[in-house]
Amino acid sequence: MKEILKMYINGEWVLSESGKVRNIINPANNEIIVTVTDGTEEDVIKATNAAQKAFYDDDWMGTQAVERARLLYKVADLLEENLNAFAELETLNTGKPIREAETDITKSITCFRYYAGLATKPHGMTYEVPDDIQALVVREPIGVCGIIVPWNFPLLMAVWQLAPALAAGNTIILKPSELTPLTAIKLFEVFEKVGFPKGVVNLVLGNGKNVGAEIAANVDVDKISFTGGTKTGKSIMVAASSNIKKMSLELGGKSPNIVFEDVDLDIAVDYALFSIFTGQGQVCVAGSRLLLQESIYDKFIYKLVERAQKIRVGNGKDKNTEMGPLISEAHMNKVLNYIEIGKNQGATLVCGGNRILDGELQRGFFVEPTIFINTTPNMRIVQEEIFGPVLVVQKFRDEEEAIYLANKTNYGLAGAVFTNDISKAHRVIKKLRAGITWINTYHTTFNEGPWGGYKQSGIGRGLGTFGYEAYTEVKQININM
Ligand code: NAD
Repeated sequence: MKEILKMYINGEWVLSESGKVRNIINPANNEIIVTVTDGTEEDVIKATNAAQKAFYDDDWMGTQAVERARLLYKVADLLEENLNAFAELETLNTGKPIREAETDITKSITCFRYYAGLATKPHGMTYEVPDDIQALVVREPIGVCGIIVPWNFPLLMAVWQLAPALAAGNTIILKPSELTPLTAIKLFEVFEKVGFPKGVVNLVLGNGKNVGAEIAANVDVDKISFTGGTKTGKSIMVAASSNIKKMSLELGGKSPNIVFEDVDLDIAVDYALFSIFTGQGQVCVAGSRLLLQESIYDKFIYKLVERAQKIRVGNGKDKNTEMGPLISEAHMNKVLNYIEIGKNQGATLVCGGNRILDGELQRGFFVEPTIFINTTPNMRIVQEEIFGPVLVVQKFRDEEEAIYLANKTNYGLAGAVFTNDISKAHRVIKKLRAGITWINTYHTTFNEGPWGGYKQSGIGRGLGTFGYEAYTEVKQININM
């Protein structure tokens, strides 16, 4: 009989009692990789009960920080021993180039180590207050944390939440995207091996509408951490109001990449391509809007298109591939539809714009690197997150107009400025309404750095001490001396 991959609830690998299954597809060739069990609301309830029992009755909340650190260090070591296997699996399931997958796994390893180290470092505060009271302020874990993540960085987005949640002493329920559960399943095999007590870590597989929505609404889940689209984030906020859950939201973006006339054009062109076409443009912080100063506009576009046409699109497992397929047929069609909308609204297509139907690639969901110029700020392709390999170019006269255009969006996740004038770079970045910014670079991340967005790009910050604190409650203790 065909193997069906299971979920991990209360320390056991289980099939959903619903009997439902889901085929997991390789987006490079539309073939079934494997079949997994498909959970339901009932499975979320089982996982929640297990996580609650582990937190309170079995006293995971009282576990020493050094013990939590020890487990997290072990997870990092095992991930490192299996780095290649994890990377290959991530590429198989997402289509992303293997080099990008290796970077994701490496970042996951360092993230576990960072939070293993941090677990033992937080300290409280003491205050002398009037009336002979001494007050202590301490941090405690929140309880049962539901973590819902998307398909673009399946392992890394999960780890950015799991590591701080566990370091802080919470129990967790992870729901990966229904499209990309494979590295999450493998991570839970590692969790099992290192010996997390029963019920501390739970993995529920399934769709958003049922499984995700139940995690968001369940009154026994104390905190919800959601990484995904802004529209879904809004519905999570409504569902989470059931018990006033603590909430972290990492949502979408439409990030501006602003290039001033004083730059080295070749370097800035390379960064512009890297900012949008990494991960096939399916990256929340993608530099999907390129803002060019008018004096360099023509020359820049020429170089940009020339190089974009040379990007090697192919199967991610081939080491020479620079851009892989989109995640699914439905998502590819959504991206192609946006390209039609761009054309219909009057933007000029200067590169790509089509599904790739050559040879082997016709079996997968490949779209050409695509560039639009002659756009106006209100066009849908300028305002909406396409989440694909589609770059829209905007032209600006001066610093003031660059800032105006950059901020003319409901999103506020990220943004970059390219200039050799450091004062100008700082002035522009200071005015940019975004949480993650870069000067003369793009896509760099570090475990200590706060990750999150302004405006409709989210609530709260992940990573660093910010991410840790987001998984804690704060208590004051007043002592009569
Ligand atoms: P999505 O919102 O469709 O799905 C994300 C997750 O939510 C999936 O696990 C899905 O099953 C689940 N879900 C869907 N509907 C739900 C519901 N009603 N209730 C509860 N859960 C539900 O997003 P996606 O298409 O998987 O990912 C792409 C989006 O993620 C983009 O908008 C991207 O910008 C965003 N993203 C943001 C960050 C960040 O750090 N800010 C990082 C990666 C991706």
